[in-house]
Amino acid sequence: MFETENQDTVPTHQLGLDYAIAQDKNDKLSHYRTQFHIPQTKTGADLIYMTGNSLGLQPKHTKTYVNQELQDWATLGVEGHFEAKNPWLGYHEFLTEAMANVVGAKPIEVVVMNTLTANLHFMMASFYQPTAKRYKILIESDAFPSDKYAVESQLRHHGFDAKEGLIQWAPPKGKELLDSSDLEQLLNIHGDSIALIMLGGVNYYTGQYLDLKRIATLGHKHGCMVGFDCAHGAGNVPLNLHDSGADFAAWCTYKYLNSGPGSLAGCFVHERHAYRKDLNRFAGWWSHNKLTRFNMRDDFDQLPGAEGWQLSNPPILSMAAIKASLDIFAEVGMDKLIHKSRQLTSYFEFLLKNLGEDVIRIITPSTPENRGCQLSIQVKQADKNLHTKLTAAGVISDWREPDVIRCAPVPLYNTFEDVYHLVEKLKTILNS
Ligand SMILES: *Cc1c(COP(=O)(O)O)cnc(C)c1O
Repeated sequence: MFETENQDTVPTHQLGLDYAIAQDKNDKLSHYRTQFHIPQTKTGADLIYMTGNSLGLQPKHTKTYVNQELQDWATLGVEGHFEAKNPWLGYHEFLTEAMANVVGAKPIEVVVMNTLTANLHFMMASFYQPTAKRYKILIESDAFPSDKYAVESQLRHHGFDAKEGLIQWAPPKGKELLDSSDLEQLLNIHGDSIALIMLGGVNYYTGQYLDLKRIATLGHKHGCMVGFDCAHGAGNVPLNLHDSGADFAAWCTYKYLNSGPGSLAGCFVHERHAYRKDLNRFAGWWSHNKLTRFNMRDDFDQLPGAEGWQLSNPPILSMAAIKASLDIFAEVGMDKLIHKSRQLTSYFEFLLKNLGEDVIRIITPSTPENRGCQLSIQVKQADKNLHTKLTAAGVISDWREPDVIRCAPVPLYNTFEDVYHLVEKLKTILNS
């Protein structure tokens, strides 16, 4: 679906501010920055915002989209379900196609609903169906805490011991990145007892982008269900979820998808499950046939596709913010975005390497296909003081104990100049 893989020639970068300025001049997406609110210093300068992987910035037109719904609610009341400019009844449908394009899926495979961890549970209600012999869940050893708690609680919910039932795929000793040959080995040993493989598609800590298709194929060969948490992948890497063959996936919209704090999540269910009625699921009136939903008395008639996992009528104000963001993604297109992202992150990598390998080490994979925009930087002999100083210098980054800074130059609103100044500030602090 995405053609970026082999097209990208990573340029030979140059040091110096002139080069950064020239890169921004040449960047066909540079004007998108003006469509976002950039957080400011107390004196009114733009902060160097490197945490779009944690909370994406607000598009300026989001207010208009949300106000439209507030306005229609004020003037129409309940009639807004049918009469609003964007009728609320099927509002989630306005998001489906654009969201499907972002994650490389077919529209029938995608729905926006609930929040991320909730979606993981709803997906596991259907795709984690343990038996006495096959009941284990495989995750990565440094999974995001919420995902680990979710799978442990699923094991307990089904009456299994959460420790015994959990298999953790760990990086080789002394390393941070996962190696797929270790996964193969784990599956060769434990494959028969594993019911579900659930992994972060892009690791939140290292920024490593796993080979989803390879993992899904491998998991299926061993008879396991395979799902991915794509919180750090959606809007950041070419996920190609349909082609990956994964059974399900879920992601939030407040990180790279810029839809506001705690906004709703996306959910993917592969097309091959779209019409299955045998799958166990938790149902609600929004998973019922749209045509007869309001008859209220009919027996449950499940909607096909990912929509059939919805429970409730959707929160329109949050969805309006998602629509505002997805309209930008639809206009730019993921392939152009990823093209810029790779240029920007490779420039960032180039400057960091120039600081000297004795000073910093980049944990994130060096190959563009195995990462998104984030680089996780280990700063030798650093402590949290470094992060405090960076913040004081106008850089918003993320600190992970004991010595890692995560920075995500986001192609929609970060610039080559941002990256240049970030590394200059880092250099100044390290030399002081
Ligand atoms: C951000 C993130 C979450 C957060 O979950 P919520 O349910 O949205 O609070 C969960 N898992 C991963 C991998 C994340 O990156």
